[in-house]
Amino acid sequence: MVKVESFSLDHTKVKAPYVRKCGAQKGVNGDSISKFDLRFLQPNEEVMPTAAIHSLEHLLAGFMREKIDTIIDISPMGCRTGFYLTAWGEVEVEDVIEALEYSLNKVLDTEEVPAANELQCGNYRDHSIELAHEYANKAIKKGFSSEIFK
Ligand SMILES: [Zn+2]
Repeated sequence: MVKVESFSLDHTKVKAPYVRKCGAQKGVNGDSISKFDLRFLQPNEEVMPTAAIHSLEHLLAGFMREKIDTIIDISPMGCRTGFYLTAWGEVEVEDVIEALEYSLNKVLDTEEVPAANELQCGNYRDHSIELAHEYANKAIKKGFSSEIFK
């Protein structure tokens, strides 16, 4: 089996919320990309309801790009404790934390989930702005660290 980087992280040793740079790769033409874990919740102790993580996904898609315009993708982790972020170029953890704090504060000022409709989403009924606010608020209060271990 192919070795997957995130499977080698000891999830019992980390302390959320944190941002971790988990990859930097160069393509054949010299372009570089940076990859991050945006861990909101403590692994195997807490989990976001699907409506919360889904609505945060829609909200962060726009707000994070206002701060980091080289973002390729932000996707929810299947375990529902956070997100993956991939961007072109040399992006640093501090840049991501700053963008995340900016974005989550904007989430708190937003009363509507963007693109939550049948045309633009694959499960538009499964959204909750209230839960998005709750988990954004929780993460802001604790604060994202660049130190990932307990
Ligand atoms: Zn959707």
